[in-house]
Amino acid sequence: MSKRARSDDTPTDEFTLYDLRVEVVQGDKDMVCNHQVGDYFELSGENLTLPPGQSFPIYPLAALLPLLPAKQRKTHANDWMTTDTDIACPDPHCGAIFRIRRIGERTFRHGDVTAVPLHPQPLHFQSLHPESDAADDDREAGE
Ligand SMILES: [Zn+2]
Repeated sequence: MSKRARSDDTPTDEFTLYDLRVEVVQGDKDMVCNHQVGDYFELSGENLTLPPGQSFPIYPLAALLPLLPAKQRKTHANDWMTTDTDIACPDPHCGAIFRIRRIGERTFRHGDVTAVPLHPQPLHFQSLHPESDAADDDREAGE
């Protein structure tokens, strides 16, 4: 019997991320960098893979990298991070577009991906404006 078959045995430190595929599509202009329509890479967790024999230039990769962890996570339906999929090449002379698609979901376990404990001491919110917070407290007390 699978360890996960019984509900009382389900690991509680699981979370899911989307697997992503980032594919080159043609924009309005010719492409001038070393990428061709259909070139792609995939991202699963922290691991980026390319098809055998295909390369991917570092400058568009650098432009894409900040967006990918957000695209891996569930986002609000109204969030632009959910709806927007096309990223332009950072070379202003290049017409390449990089289309980010969520191609699947993968389950990870917290304990497998970090040494940080799952339930550390809670971090308390520290206000940048403690004086105005005190005034807010006075108003609330007077209600
Ligand atoms: Zn380009």
